[in-house]
Amino acid sequence: MEMLLLLIILPVVIFAIVLLIIFVVRKNRTHEDFDQQWHESNDEDFFHEQKKYRSEQIGQEGENWIASVLGQDIPDEKYVINNLTISSGGKSSQIDHIMITKVGIFLIETKNYSGTIYGSLNQRQWTQVFDYGKVKNSFYNPTMQSNTHAYRLKRVLGRLAKSNCFVQTVVFPKAELMIEPIDNVGDTHNLVRILNTPREYIFTTDEINRIHRKLIDFKINPRISEDKHIQNIQKTQLQIAHNICPRCNSKLVLRNGQYGSFYGCKKYPYCKFKKHV
Ligand SMILES: [Zn+2]
Repeated sequence: MEMLLLLIILPVVIFAIVLLIIFVVRKNRTHEDFDQQWHESNDEDFFHEQKKYRSEQIGQEGENWIASVLGQDIPDEKYVINNLTISSGGKSSQIDHIMITKVGIFLIETKNYSGTIYGSLNQRQWTQVFDYGKVKNSFYNPTMQSNTHAYRLKRVLGRLAKSNCFVQTVVFPKAELMIEPIDNVGDTHNLVRILNTPREYIFTTDEINRIHRKLIDFKINPRISEDKHIQNIQKTQLQIAHNICPRCNSKLVLRNGQYGSFYGCKKYPYCKFKKHV
């Protein structure tokens, strides 16, 4: 009788214990998973926040550093205008730093990117890579951007501009550059080198004063410029958000590339605009 009871109860008890163990283990595991995920996402957010903060801080330092290298105005000798939005023909350009001197007008673009930068003179899009290749961003070739600024500035200045009067340079204060060597693109040392390169006078005192008056007027009496410029940028961002190519107004379609999915212009290869997913 006892044997029979044992034979019935024992499997039931063992089964119950096994069930209990499975239940406890599973419960713990989901807890662990949840904790793990929570930690990971939180760490990631925190990490990104930290990084964002750090790059903004360094970005600001970069800007300030360049402004301090260019220094103050020296009447009749040198004029410095930081962050100037000029407009002509309904289009606007925002130029980070302009220095007007008798040897020329320096146009300085500051790119406060971190990570490693890849690109070449004729490539329309340059690439920023960080987190050991995990994160890639593309941005418009800054030498082309600088050319657009020079073109617009020339239109604004009219007869005051002379041939080869612009000295254009792009500064990456922070990034590691893996670009094809381009004379006017580099780090802060390269900027100092460009500023210190001996050049001949091409402007008279009167001419630099007139150029300065013309340009500083965009600062003193901003036309449509500052607002319109922001509007233009917002329009572009809105188009991109709605998967419309900001360059040719075609649709952006989801494609699969070597490094994963991305949105590309429907008119590829005629238009190579890309948006990262
Ligand atoms: Zn397009």
